[in-house]
Amino acid sequence: MLKKAAFAFAATLLAATGASAQEQVLNLYSARHYSTDEALYTNFTKATGIKINRVDADDAGILARLKAEGSASPADVILLVDAARLWKGETEGLFQPIKSKLLEDAIPAQLRAKPAEDGGTTWFGFSTRARVVVYDKLKVNKDDVDSYEELAEPKNKGRLCIRSGSHPYNLSLFGAVTEHLGPVKAEAWLKGLVDNMARPPKGGDTDQIKGVASGECGIAVTNTYYLARLMRSDKPEDKAVVERVGVVFPNQSSWGTHVNVAGGAVAKNAPNRANAIKFLEYLAGAEAQNYFANGNNEWPTARGVQVSNPALKAMTGGSFKSETIPISAVGMNQVKVQQMLDRVGFK
Ligand code: FE
Repeated sequence: MLKKAAFAFAATLLAATGASAQEQVLNLYSARHYSTDEALYTNFTKATGIKINRVDADDAGILARLKAEGSASPADVILLVDAARLWKGETEGLFQPIKSKLLEDAIPAQLRAKPAEDGGTTWFGFSTRARVVVYDKLKVNKDDVDSYEELAEPKNKGRLCIRSGSHPYNLSLFGAVTEHLGPVKAEAWLKGLVDNMARPPKGGDTDQIKGVASGECGIAVTNTYYLARLMRSDKPEDKAVVERVGVVFPNQSSWGTHVNVAGGAVAKNAPNRANAIKFLEYLAGAEAQNYFANGNNEWPTARGVQVSNPALKAMTGGSFKSETIPISAVGMNQVKVQQMLDRVGFK
């Protein structure tokens, strides 16, 4: 009898947790490849009781997976690390517009998708990063590399190290340059970059910075957080790298440095929509914004969040001028840019 009652009690408990468990889950598809984000997810679960199931892949892999899964996709939230990919997901209908006063108040309009027909927003930018130039202080004059245009000039022949042209960070930079210069000049510029390469593109941004420190490259292109990571490292080999390289935020006297955005969206067919919105709202809060700034050395996007990251401060001297073109323009130029890369032989 006692045993039976205990069993019934356990069954009731199971049914109760089973029912709520359905709402206490969030399926996250993330292209953020930063170990410091772990704390973000753990803290969200601690605060809300919502368990996160995470699928990690790169931006393109996530978009392809969403398409393949279609209406059966279990994805709730999508995190991508590139403006053009966010734009692509939006235009391909992979996200659903949401309405959140908290998010609309927190995230400036130029760092989120344009309002959909129903007034909702499909994606929000939660952090930004600049794409800057690093140079060998022993061999290269800062004045020769303080604009993106100069990287393609003959004076920098044999100096340039850069990751694959088809990587989203470069596609977006090149899309921005195409917007600023027009396609004809942009293609000539890309050809100039190829002519100036110290070696064929290989590795990630950190490899390019290390290439400068080793003397193989005179100039490299990198996202700011990779350099900041080295600047904050205690390893002697990283300190030596930082000692050797200078950093330039290009185009301060013209259209500004190219800035990319990492952001998130609710998936079109999100089974846990309410939890998804809750998670995006969490990312706009002070705690998460601080993780982006201090954990991964990015700039927070939410209004009113003041963060002082010593590496970013040292890099910029406090502030810098960033470009102001619409993110959609960068996205719309992607196909054009890929064709130009093929024509000029930029691997
Ligand atoms: Fe990255």
